[in-house]
Amino acid sequence: MAADARRAAPRMTASAATAVPVAAGWAADRTRCVDQRLAQLARRLTRYLAAAALALAWSGALAQFVPPEAGKTPAAPAVRDQEIAECRPGERQTWGDGRDRPIASRALRFAYRHDNAPPWFSESQVMALVTRSAEAWSACGLKLTVIAVTRGQIPPEDAIQILWSDVGSRGQFALANVGARSLSIGPALFALLRERNPGHPAAQTLQMVLSHEMGHFLGLMAHSKRCVDTMSYYDNGKGERCMLRDPKSWGSVVEYRSTLPTACDIERCRALNR
Ligand SMILES: [Zn+2]
Repeated sequence: MAADARRAAPRMTASAATAVPVAAGWAADRTRCVDQRLAQLARRLTRYLAAAALALAWSGALAQFVPPEAGKTPAAPAVRDQEIAECRPGERQTWGDGRDRPIASRALRFAYRHDNAPPWFSESQVMALVTRSAEAWSACGLKLTVIAVTRGQIPPEDAIQILWSDVGSRGQFALANVGARSLSIGPALFALLRERNPGHPAAQTLQMVLSHEMGHFLGLMAHSKRCVDTMSYYDNGKGERCMLRDPKSWGSVVEYRSTLPTACDIERCRALNR
């Protein structure tokens, strides 16, 4: 199933990645491509959940879905925890599918608007998730703040808007439009996820989506090659798979990627925005 889905998945082409100049438009296009992976994930996730109440996994920008292999003993969480906490020399690698660039400001403000959110997510819950992702990324040495925008209120012009919109997210879990300074989350896909598996911890999915997309606003446009990184893609669509310290971990857990930026995500962000 995974292989079929990978083959069917939309791919970035070299021309798409290189032909557009480095500008807001480029970034926006780039993240759009990036998050087509979200759609892959959703398709796989919902297919898989429909088929069986098994554990699930994703990857990629938000990635490719990797169901645990039957009979496989889950990897010791300690290995994954270590990978999250520690970035070893040589581990900070990307797929080279985007051009990282430092951001212009040392301070970023995110404005969260709860309108159109699925009813099972409360405003305070999502605000807490957004804030948690922002605080985790602050370790990059940037000042990231989050404010709530109430219905009818116009967000501050300097803020990056986080909103629920199927139009903005283009039918995906989320999409970072760096040029437009908007991070759109897709209510329809979260609804589908809930419909197919009400028991799935959707808040974890949302936390990861937020952390990943926020990373793009910090200038991390390429995707990490290290499976556990928040900014990772599980594969490059050409049969090459992300890196694991323990290769046996592949397919052993629900979601290998961290919901919050890892040590390598932070190191990469720091190196870029020093
Ligand atoms: Zn991405």
